Amino acid sequence: MKDDKSGDNEQACDVLVIGGGPAGSATAARLARQGRRVVMLEKDHHPRFHIGESLLPHSMPLLDQLGVLDEVHESVGVLKPGVDFYSDHHVNPHQAYYFDSAWDKRYPHAYEVRRSDFDRILFKNAERAGAEVHEGVRVTSIEFRPGKPSLVRARGEDGEEVAWETRFVVDASGRDTFLSGRLGLKRKNKKHASSAIYGHFHNVPRQPGDDEGNICVYWFEHGWFWLIPLRDGIMSVGAVCFPEYLKTRDCPPEEFLYKTLAISPSLAERMKAAELEGEVRATGNFTYFSSTASGEGCLLVGDAFAFLDPVFSSGVHLALTGAFMAADTVDRILEHPGQARQLTRTYERKLRRGMRRFSWYIYRFNTPAFHHLFMSPSNRFRMIEAITSMLAGDVFRRPRMGRSILVFRVIYYGFSILNWRKSFAVWRRRRHQLGLEFKGGTTPVDKAVEGAHR
Ligand SMILES: Cc1cc2nc3c(=O)[nH]c(=O)nc-3n(C[C@H](O)[C@H](O)[C@H](O)COP(=O)(O)OP(=O)(O)OC[C@H]3O[C@@H](n4cnc5c(N)ncnc54)[C@H](O)[C@@H]3O)c2cc1C
Repeated sequence: MKDDKSGDNEQACDVLVIGGGPAGSATAARLARQGRRVVMLEKDHHPRFHIGESLLPHSMPLLDQLGVLDEVHESVGVLKPGVDFYSDHHVNPHQAYYFDSAWDKRYPHAYEVRRSDFDRILFKNAERAGAEVHEGVRVTSIEFRPGKPSLVRARGEDGEEVAWETRFVVDASGRDTFLSGRLGLKRKNKKHASSAIYGHFHNVPRQPGDDEGNICVYWFEHGWFWLIPLRDGIMSVGAVCFPEYLKTRDCPPEEFLYKTLAISPSLAERMKAAELEGEVRATGNFTYFSSTASGEGCLLVGDAFAFLDPVFSSGVHLALTGAFMAADTVDRILEHPGQARQLTRTYERKLRRGMRRFSWYIYRFNTPAFHHLFMSPSNRFRMIEAITSMLAGDVFRRPRMGRSILVFRVIYYGFSILNWRKSFAVWRRRRHQLGLEFKGGTTPVDKAVEGAHR
């Protein structure tokens, strides 16, 4: 990296964390509590908008350990007891899954949160835990110096350069992928591609009774929609689509989102009185990973390492779980530098294992067999319990539900073979969007898929 010898105001710390989102704040808080001198730099100011509003039950014990669970419950969270799936193309158009039916009954709910508030709580918590935190300070370069502390340079909003000498760097810079991008570690995910368009709305009815905090997922031809109920009567609504569909946009984002919502008759009915609050945002293909999660003197955590897909709301859970693992790994490396290689290898293996468990379902989420199994589930072999456990984020422990998951997968492949025409059309479309540049308009493959969904 750059070797700038300008006379910066240099300071020293044990660990420098790049980015004050959930991954950075949780890492910083945990390391500070372990007695480390931690500096966390955030380029933005909290509260700031961020997408990713639905949390998972297995993040609740992590929030509890961080000491923020009560605050999330009292001031920002909407209780989320389950997930509702909708499809206009199935005999059973609605299917609910409740977290209290998961294999592990200890975590029967999660929360839906406005990320601006949630991230601010986590950031302030890291400061309370003893981390030195700075907002409006962007990390600009890192010089890794073998045998010496690394030199991290940053710039404040007034243009002032600051530098820290640090024994370790944790990159939690999210989709900016600070280190992964600069070190050439960032890779396109060849198995998956996805994009999204979303906004916040008033006047969208919630689920009745105790289910009012459920996230709702609606499948449609080009992907799926989320409806996430937030406080103050807001409903976060987004469409996650094949990137080729988003590229057909020929009108302003707001109009395109309304047009897309109209494709699902049941969702269009629910959205008929909806009023947009703020702007509609779109995000192009957001699926990627880094070839490694660590280097000498550094670790990557959360989206800075990889992002899979918003489906199953796994992002914040992976960020928080990764943060706990990263903090414990860094703490041990600082204690026993000679074990660094083995410790980072273990960190990476665990991280990848959790992501792999989600990714099998993510890659198949838009297939006919998956729709069928989710809309008409059976609890034979405790399959509903196993699926609900995955929906709850129970992906990091050694699974005790291996047999149930195996049966689910066997049925999945059996259904795909029996309905091979539909399955093949969807498979071909996926290959098309992963391998070819889309030139606009409706492709013959699109037509085949639209037919397959009817
Ligand atoms: C369309 C969409 C929908 C999603 N929905 C969900 C959902 O419902 N539930 C869920 O759990 N997840 C969801 N996610 C994923 C979720 O948003 C992320 O996985 C999560 O925010 C990752 O947290 P993080 O801390 O790793 O990164 P971030 O939350 O992105 O935090 C990174 C921080 O680093 C800062 N930063 C970046 N570069 C620098 C720099 N050079 N110097 C200083 N600071 C820097 C940024 O300003 C940012 O604050 C969704 C994602 C998308 C794209």
